[in-house]
Amino acid sequence: MFIEPRVGTGPGVARRGWIEVVCGSMFSGKTEELIRRLNRAKIARQRVEIFKPALDTRYHVEDVVSHNANSIRSTPVPIAQEMLLLAGGCDVVGIDEAQFFDESLVEVCVQLANQGTRVIVAGLDMDFLGKPFGPMPALMAVAEFVTKVHAICVCCGEIASYSFRVAASEDKILLGETDAYEARCRYCFQEGMKEKTTEPVAKAAVR
Ligand SMILES: [Zn+2]
Repeated sequence: MFIEPRVGTGPGVARRGWIEVVCGSMFSGKTEELIRRLNRAKIARQRVEIFKPALDTRYHVEDVVSHNANSIRSTPVPIAQEMLLLAGGCDVVGIDEAQFFDESLVEVCVQLANQGTRVIVAGLDMDFLGKPFGPMPALMAVAEFVTKVHAICVCCGEIASYSFRVAASEDKILLGETDAYEARCRYCFQEGMKEKTTEPVAKAAVR
């Protein structure tokens, strides 16, 4: 489990910022881990602000909602730069569904951390094709701490790090994830992708 580093914030010591990334496939508990870290900071009376991309409206517009209904209020923002204005005076900034922001999120997180803010970013590290997702790889590079969480493969019970799309769609952003995706291990993800390209029915449906 991730333990926060001890930073000198005693009298006369400037607040220090850093970046944490929590990444993994769908159903891996990313948001739960983000909420756990944010709640602990809140209990310590730190000023916490949570953002998510405005396009993610799956459940409730103002909540970062994890699948176990353990939610925290959040602010939807259309572009990453808006967080620089809204996060003024925050000790901790949480960002959920970070993969849906564009590359400018990286610079925004760096700026916030340089200003002394603890930044915790949660997001999918890979898309449904198994490719690095949006700004996540660059964020992982500039972060002090990277935590990769895992789901359980629905096919074989191994550790899963891939989000396999069951629904036939080529759109990178497909909301309503519980029906559309399965967590799969490397082997079962590959098997599934092979089936998709060889089955004529699946091929036709994709087009
Ligand atoms: Zn498997």
